[in-house]
Amino acid sequence: MKAESPVPTVPIFGIRVSKIDMKATVAYLTEAVRNREPHQVITANPIMVMTALENPAYMEIMKSAELVVPDGTGVVWAAEYCHEPVAERVAGFDLLHELLRQGERYTWKVYLLGSTPEVIHETSSRLQTQYPGIVISGYHDGYFGPDDDEKIISGILEAQPDLLFVARGADSQEPWIAKYKSRLNIPVMMGVGGSFDVISGKTKRAPIAFQKLRAEWLYRLLKEPTRYKRMLALPKFAVKVMREKDKVTKAQ
Ligand code: UDP
Repeated sequence: MKAESPVPTVPIFGIRVSKIDMKATVAYLTEAVRNREPHQVITANPIMVMTALENPAYMEIMKSAELVVPDGTGVVWAAEYCHEPVAERVAGFDLLHELLRQGERYTWKVYLLGSTPEVIHETSSRLQTQYPGIVISGYHDGYFGPDDDEKIISGILEAQPDLLFVARGADSQEPWIAKYKSRLNIPVMMGVGGSFDVISGKTKRAPIAFQKLRAEWLYRLLKEPTRYKRMLALPKFAVKVMREKDKVTKAQ
């Protein structure tokens, strides 16, 4: 995030995480659309923070994002634990919906990139039904390689979206946006992971009970046990925060 960013942040191991709540986040991004200021929005969770700590290139991406919101409950907890609490959790899935709701007021154009051809088709039609005031100016599935990037970028540029949501998994969506954000020049460019799978009805989001217990990660682990390796990052993150409590918010 740029030094002059008007959003108050708490640095978590050098990654500046926004402290503002959902409402203020939507208002801030609405201004970004109004002023045509490109923003890479990253929805940070402990897995991403741990990846960044092990991978300098990924760290650079997290640091250069214009807005990093506290999506993972582990990130919210870490800020609180270090006495620099964020206003609330800003989950990427909820932010996507809040932005679309807001977009209805201004007839924002939206481009959806990622997931399978069936999922993206269904997602596009469901979102258009749910938010008739927005314009889905284009969509494309997420199963393409670097050779197709140019074609994909031309398609997005032609569609002239105000919002670009990319659902390709955190390992690839954030680097992809970072690589092309200056060419795309879209006010809101945000990675949304498995959100299209949920919107299309292919998978379910964790029930409210899990969300309230701050345990969406547990629900996902139970549904997809193969995720356990990645999820080992969660306890590792917690231990690191506790061990290095004095340094967590000081790292540059
Ligand atoms: N996906 C994609 N292209 C790929 C790999 C994955 O579009 O090359 C999509 C996949 O269909 C899913 C989304 O990326 O809709 C998120 O995948 P996953 O939940 O595995 O990623 P995570 O958010 O856990 O990193």
